[in-house]
Amino acid sequence: MEHILVSACLCGKNCKWDGGNNKNQRLLDYMESMKGKAEFHEVCPEQMGGLSTPRPASEIRVEDRRVVNTEGVDVTEEFERGAELALQVAKEFGCTLAILKERSPSCGCHGIYDGTFSKKIVEGKGKAAELLIANGIRVIGESEMENVIL
Ligand code: SF4
Repeated sequence: MEHILVSACLCGKNCKWDGGNNKNQRLLDYMESMKGKAEFHEVCPEQMGGLSTPRPASEIRVEDRRVVNTEGVDVTEEFERGAELALQVAKEFGCTLAILKERSPSCGCHGIYDGTFSKKIVEGKGKAAELLIANGIRVIGESEMENVIL
């Protein structure tokens, strides 16, 4: 049985910063098709790190990798704690793959917002994606599922 970590918001959980979700029907269909072959483990690193929902949006600053929200509060500690806890789940179940929400300061695995809240994308990874990759877990974004898995 394969074990796969997934961003909870992609599965329809209302854990996004604004109280909504990023439900991805293709992912849900894939999960359904893999019943009996793979187990999926939903995580929301930001909630796991102790942040409430809804919460102010946050971005990672390019210059120092600190995570700061739209109110100017530094929430790096919460993001790093959430990343550690998501890694713990991945290790507990032996996950080799994570399908995570793109561009998120926690879950983004390629580009992320640049910390200026101007919708500008820069190279970089979210805190949880970065930690998972550093621990040997393959991380892909929701738009890559077709090429990589399906
Ligand atoms: Fe979704 Fe990840 Fe943000 Fe949680 S931390 S809302 S799972 S993108």
